[in-house]
Amino acid sequence: MLQTSVTVHHSFNAARVYRIPLELFPGLSGYAHLVFADDYAVLIDVGSGVGYSNEHLEAGLKQIRENFGENADWESLTHVLITHAHIDHFGGLRYVRKRTTALLGVHKLDLRVLTGYEERLRIVAHRLTEYLIEAGVSSDERQDIMDLYLLNKHLFESVEVDFTYDEADMQVGPLRLTHVPGHCPGQVVLQIDDLLFSADHILKDTTPHQAPEQLSMNTGLGHYLESLEKIRPLARSVRISFGGHEDPIIDLEKRIDEIVGMHSDRLAAVLKLLERPLTIADISNNLFPKAEGYHVLLALEEAGAHIEYLAQRGYLSILNLDDMQPNRAVPIIYRRRSAQFVRIIGAKEYLIN
Ligand SMILES: [Zn+2]
Ligand SMILES: [Zn+2]
Repeated sequence: MLQTSVTVHHSFNAARVYRIPLELFPGLSGYAHLVFADDYAVLIDVGSGVGYSNEHLEAGLKQIRENFGENADWESLTHVLITHAHIDHFGGLRYVRKRTTALLGVHKLDLRVLTGYEERLRIVAHRLTEYLIEAGVSSDERQDIMDLYLLNKHLFESVEVDFTYDEADMQVGPLRLTHVPGHCPGQVVLQIDDLLFSADHILKDTTPHQAPEQLSMNTGLGHYLESLEKIRPLARSVRISFGGHEDPIIDLEKRIDEIVGMHSDRLAAVLKLLERPLTIADISNNLFPKAEGYHVLLALEEAGAHIEYLAQRGYLSILNLDDMQPNRAVPIIYRRRSAQFVRIIGAKEYLIN
């Protein structure tokens, strides 16, 4: 696969940021970033480690050496920082760790994914199976979804991590880190001068994926929306934001508003659908009728995150409570409690009749 070129950006304080394009999985591209500032050479994220990802990472470093004259080699790196423990961002660590002695950092809430990967995978697979039953997914379809979920996941093995971000007081050299749980428990964004690495917390075109907190603590739509508000004060001092995927974001505050608006509309749409009794799978099919393959799971998680948000805040009731017995997972049928619509503006909720 052809790779597009590395681009360079300069902060007001002369830090150099290189964007390295990577094919992470077939059909999913994204970026690793290499930052040079003072005596620091920091690689932010390492790609998926599968397909062309490692090759593209090497090609990117080579371009930075040859076209920009930087010491972009494995020996010169001082730090490798993981923005969040999703495999498209950290899967390349097995490859990278063998080549550099740079210090590896991650947020403490994502530490176990990297250091106890096999354990974590088992737990998630267990919770996911239960979730799919509760969501009302048929057993055949559950099997397909689990097969897809586990595909490629066994290619990673645990790695040792050198430090967590709180141990470094959320600061690595000139990079200031902010914890923004939601899309992932240990999600962080990193700021250097007037540049922000927004990772998968804020993307330019796509609304970052949400999953119910039932699957993994410190995810969930409520945490995510709070974390968006946490970034709003930074937006005024940020000129360009680099997501983990897609093009850079120029107007960060506008993008935050758009994402909040999208979730607000989606919550309203879910409440509208729940005029009649439905499962999460029904709602997912309604919201994302074209989802196929791995996207079926993503759609079920996205729908579930919105249902969970509404259910926790008392907008929904469960119709088949009598079917729910200890030690027996059954599909849960929801209906809305009232005809009120929720609007979220900022982190606040407003009711609209
Ligand atoms: Zn992610
Ligand atoms: Zn990602």
